[in-house]
Amino acid sequence: MTGLITMDDLTNEEILDILDDAERLLPVAKGELYLPLLQGRIMGNLFFEPSTRTRMSFETAMKRLGGGVVNLGDVKTSSVVKGETLYDTIQMVDGYTDIIAMRHPRQGAAQYAQDAARVPILNGGDGAGNHPTQTMLDLFTIRQAHGKLDGLKVVLAGDLRYGRTVHSLSHALTRFGCELIFASPGLLRMPAEIVSDLQGHGANVTETEDLYGSINDADVVYMTRIQKERFADEDEYARCAGAYKLHAKHLADVKEDMIIMHPLPRVDEIHPSVDSTRHARYFEQAFNGVVARMALLCRLLGVAVPADISAAGGAL
Ligand code: ASP
Repeated sequence: MTGLITMDDLTNEEILDILDDAERLLPVAKGELYLPLLQGRIMGNLFFEPSTRTRMSFETAMKRLGGGVVNLGDVKTSSVVKGETLYDTIQMVDGYTDIIAMRHPRQGAAQYAQDAARVPILNGGDGAGNHPTQTMLDLFTIRQAHGKLDGLKVVLAGDLRYGRTVHSLSHALTRFGCELIFASPGLLRMPAEIVSDLQGHGANVTETEDLYGSINDADVVYMTRIQKERFADEDEYARCAGAYKLHAKHLADVKEDMIIMHPLPRVDEIHPSVDSTRHARYFEQAFNGVVARMALLCRLLGVAVPADISAAGGAL
């Protein structure tokens, strides 16, 4: 069975169906209803790079649905330090589990794992490549706020060069006909091959270094962290660090229903003064990781989400 490696693995119709499933699963994600749809199934969590939200929300999603989780744990205490290859690790975990959530520092590693595995792989980030499960929760959050995905104006800001979240998200937003503004320092522009790929799919894209001048007519402002760990040259990082610092004072003229998102963790690109504004959505966005991943797990394991959740579920 194939998993989710890039957003190309899902049609627009499938994306919308999964978002609908996720919406119905909200009471289960909140712990208000018990619905063990994945009882007896086991997910493997294979994180070869640091993670807080992705790893924990996958685990929460699986457990809220009655499933089990086995973890690779800290790479330093696994056989990886003895020189085990990714291929061998996958061969083994494949036999222990029904589905694998994976993060790896190397771009392309998730596809490599999928080619080696029998069970579906959920790509939880492959280097500077893709992060499609993040995109699903991002789309969920945008649709929750605006009631639709089509035709919105979205500013993607910060590290567009190494930020895998914006690579996957810009692809999906293009398919829903959004207008995209890429705001980044010159060194951190969206890779040219991604821009031309998006344009080949009919994208309406503008590139700028002026973040603050771009946000007033936006429906969504998606901030990202500068991905320090991906720079080969520390001086280059030092030249871009702190490039954008969105503060509440920048929000005086923005649209009333504009939302500010961030995949987190933030460093200094969103000042805490923004947290108490009506625009801040990043903590709800992080919560939505549970519900979006619940819906994805069900979909990839071939388990239907009942139309009437409250009739199907019971009390905790
Ligand atoms: N958590 C996101 C990721 O893993 C964003 C980030 O690390 O900046 O890509």
